[in-house]
Formats: sequence, structure tokens, C-alpha cells
Amino acid sequence: MNEVCKNYDKVKNPISKLQGKPKIAYFSMEIGIDEHIPTYSGGLGILAGDTIKSCADLNVPLVGITLLSEKGYFYQKLDKEGNQRELPINFSVSNFLKLLPTRTIIKIEDRDVFLRSWLYQYRGINGYLIPVFFLDSNINENDSRDRNLTKYLYGGDNKYRLAQEIILGIGGVRMLKNLGYTTIDKYHMNEGHAALGTLELYKEFNNVEKVREQCVFTTHTPVAAGHDQFDILEAKHMIGDLLPESIIEEIKFEDKLNMTRLALFFSHYINGVAKKHKEISQQMFPGYSIQSITNGVHASTWVSKPFQNLFDEHISGWHSDPYMLRSAFSINKNEIWKKHLDAKKILIDFVNDRYNVGMNYNDFTIGFARRQTEYKRPELLISDPERLKEIAKNVGPIQIIYSGKAHPNDETGKKSIKKIFDTMKSINDSIKITFIHNYNMTIGKIITAGVDLWLNTPRRPMEASGTSGMKAAHNGVPQFGTLDGWWIEGCIENITGWSIGPEKTEDDKSDDEIDKNDLYNKLETWIIPKFYNDRDNWIRTMRSCIAINASFFNTNRMVQQYVLNAYFI
Ligand SMILES: *Cc1c(COP(=O)(O)O)cnc(C)c1O
Repeated sequence: MNEVCKNYDKVKNPISKLQGKPKIAYFSMEIGIDEHIPTYSGGLGILAGDTIKSCADLNVPLVGITLLSEKGYFYQKLDKEGNQRELPINFSVSNFLKLLPTRTIIKIEDRDVFLRSWLYQYRGINGYLIPVFFLDSNINENDSRDRNLTKYLYGGDNKYRLAQEIILGIGGVRMLKNLGYTTIDKYHMNEGHAALGTLELYKEFNNVEKVREQCVFTTHTPVAAGHDQFDILEAKHMIGDLLPESIIEEIKFEDKLNMTRLALFFSHYINGVAKKHKEISQQMFPGYSIQSITNGVHASTWVSKPFQNLFDEHISGWHSDPYMLRSAFSINKNEIWKKHLDAKKILIDFVNDRYNVGMNYNDFTIGFARRQTEYKRPELLISDPERLKEIAKNVGPIQIIYSGKAHPNDETGKKSIKKIFDTMKSINDSIKITFIHNYNMTIGKIITAGVDLWLNTPRRPMEASGTSGMKAAHNGVPQFGTLDGWWIEGCIENITGWSIGPEKTEDDKSDDEIDKNDLYNKLETWIIPKFYNDRDNWIRTMRSCIAINASFFNTNRMVQQYVLNAYFI
């Protein structure tokens, strides 16, 4: 970056004056900050990583804290039928993280459990460093049960999960103290997993209001069943004295210790991750005032190489101020198309090399990659293969690229993968489908940049925000999606993409049949004809995705909202 840009950033950035000792501790069960550090499972962790990157770019005095998850989430193997096998990820921790000598101690079921931490430092665009601490219980002195506790992200049973939450919340607060962080006065819980940290603060202050002043909570789950909860007797047994009766009375729900309610009770600022999600959360928790800050993605991370070059040439300064991407409107359409073809070639070469599928550089390519789970409806696009074949015959060739893991206990998600494999074989002569195994950040980057259309079909209102469509927008790839989560805010019909299904229904729920028909109709009459026969207007849409959506749905904007609304009030 040149000198002019650097100075421009300093003047422009209102947050730089806050530089100094860390004031905010950001807690997240998963953090995906580097594609080679597999300590994340999906959207929540990537969001945490992107948040930390933008804090570093904006000089926001924050530290991150998470679990080591030494064996990651899992490595996904798929056989020829699409059966998923889960293997531990082999990850050489010391390649990426530095072991620190500081330790802390917590109690789980009355046993002393020692914790240590590993350090990762992320350097922002102006050199500002944000430390991230990965808590680790794999220490000789610990009981063998406890040595396993920071190995598997979202693995094990309820008890294993509660132990992990004790480590993250209580262990996290204690570790920060032991590491010498004395200036922290905001604790941001990214989802309810870290909620037990509030009990450690409560022990310190013995005053609910004082704890509240310091706590910020972001909820991510629009379905009641998705919130972590634990049997109260078991929780008392595991957590011990730190869990006072008076607090249990305040927060218990359906006779369970509910982590979302614990976090809500102790926070002065609570937010959902999109405007719609705020409304849903407000209905779920009427006793609390819930705000919204819509998610974003870290622009420099998710813009592919070809588009990085294009933006560097035309929009210098976009790395530190992604709002400048609005001037993508002035970039020549042919240049955008050329860069898109470069990004598409990287994807098509990747799938052809790996899977020998003979995909074509010029064919209309649809991407669907995310957690394979029922509410996201991975099968909606292929639910009527005959119809899909018909469309391809009428308006032009279609190829489809899928990727995504199903949680080890999610049988429905696993069935979806098998269904995709079955369909892949049965319509292979007219539509090529590939399923890329082991979806992760690296693959996410290649797919979101390389397809022509990003498909997102969550069943409303279950998608809190969603972020993969934002990554696509950063690469000029329009989204075709259900009006849920961020897409309600991001979709301008035919300008930044297209909607699937109605905006609102009486019960505000998605109807598979209606959505499926709308999906096929729009592909056939609007989207694919525009791609093949009206290329100029197609590229105009691509350009609008960058100018209108990437310029807004990025974590720089998001972090500035957290600073103004959540951290410093
Ligand atoms: C962005 C991302 C996600 C989140 O995708 P959604 O479609 O928003 O659910 C999940 N996994 C990976 C690897 C990602 O990069």
C-alpha cells in the first residue's frame, strides 16, 4: 500500500484513537482465522475470524479467545454412494501457534483442571496486532478425561459440551487475567457457548449491574431448539459453587440451565445478526431488548486473486475501506467478465482435476456450499431432476457444484448428501453435478468466486444471517436465494440477484412446493436466459453485487457498528 493510502486511513479511521491496551475480549467456541488452522466448523467461526481481522485493520483494541480444538471439527470423506465418514483432522499446532507458559486452573466436577494457551497474532493492514488465545487442556497433570476436552469441536455428548463451555467461559476469563490483561471492560460473547464467563465476573463483582455493564451478547440461533441447555442438577454438579441458586432462578427455562438466557440476563447490549433475525429473537425473548447488527465478511480475505488485481488497479484503498467498492460502478464490464472467467477457470480446473467430471468453462454454473442440514434444503434444486433437464434443454447447459459437511449426528443432513450423489449419477448425461468433499475455507474461497450463480435455499425464518452469499458478492457473483437472513436486506431483484419464493406469507414459513416452482421458473425465464443471451446485462448485475452489496456487507462496516453501539456505550 502506498503512503497516501496509509495517511488517508489514519485520518479517516475514527477508531485509531482508541489504540492502546486491549479493552474488549471476544469469546467464540470456534474461530476460523486462517485456512490452515482447522479450529472452526462453519459460518460462526468464519464470522469470528473475519471480525478479528477487521478489528485489526481498524485498530480496535480487542483480544480473541477460543478453544484449541486440536482435532478440528472433522475431515469429511465421502464414498461413491455419498456416505460420509468423519475422521479427526491431523493438525500440527506448533506450525501455526505459539505455546505460552501462563496457566490457569478451573474446576470441573470438583476436579482441578489446568489450562494453558496457544497464541496466534493477526496483523492488520496498518500493522496493528490482535492476539487470539487458544485454550488447551491437554496437559500431563490433568486427568485423562480432561485432556480430551479441547480436542473435538462440537464432538462428544452433552457433558463434554458443558465441560468445554466451562473451559471457554470461566477458563477464558481467568486465563486473560493471568495473561495480564487488566484493562478489559467489555466481554463479547459470540453465541451462548461462552455464557458461563458471566458467572466468573459475577463472583468477582457480586453485583449483577456491574457484570451487565461489561457484557455484550450476539445470538445466532433463530430456533428455540438450537439453544444450548443443560440439566440443572448436572450443571450444578459440574460447575459447582460458581453457579448460585439466585441466578438459576432468574435464568432457568423449561427446568434447564439455558446458556442463551444466561447470556441475555447478564448483558447490557444484545444483538441478532440481521434485521429479520433481531425481530425473531425479540419474539423468542420478549423480556429483553434486542438490537441488530447485520453480519459481514472480511473483504481482503474473500475477494479472489483475479478480483484483488482488478480492485487494486481501479479502487486503491479498498482493503482498508471496503466501502470504496461502491465505485465498482465505474469499472468496465469487459474487465469484470475477464476476471470472472479467470476465477471460474480456477474452480473448473480444480473440480476436473480432482473428480474427472469434464466441466466446461463456458457453461452456466450454480454453486451450493454450506452445512448440509435440513433447513438449508440442499436438495431443493435437484428435487425435480426432469424439470431441471428440461430447463437445460430449453435455455442452455447447466452444471452444479455442491460442497458441505453434515454434523456427525445429523442423519437427515447425511441423507441429503446421498440424495445429491444419486441424482448426480441419474442425470449425468444431461447435467453435470460435482460434490467437493471436505468443505472448508480454502474450498469456500474457490467456489464462492468461481461459480456464475450462488444458490441459497434456507427454510424461513431459520437462517439467522448467512454469509456465503456476501463472499460471492465480493467476487461479482449474484445470489439466488430465499428471503431470509441478510438476503432480505441484500436482494434487489434483478439488480443484485434474485429471490426465491414470496417475501412474506401468513405464517411466515417457507413452503417447499411454492419455493421449488419459483426456483425453476426464475431459472428458466429470467436467470439462465439473461446469462446466455443478454451477457451485457448479466455483467451489469455482477457489477451491482460488488458496488451495492460488497461495499456494505463487510466486517469493517460491521465492526464499526459494534464499536459504536455495543462496546463503547
Ligand atoms: C462462509 C462459510 C460458511 C457459512 O456459509 P452459509 O451459507 O452462510 O451458511 C460455512 N462454512 C465455510 C467453510 C464458509 O467459508
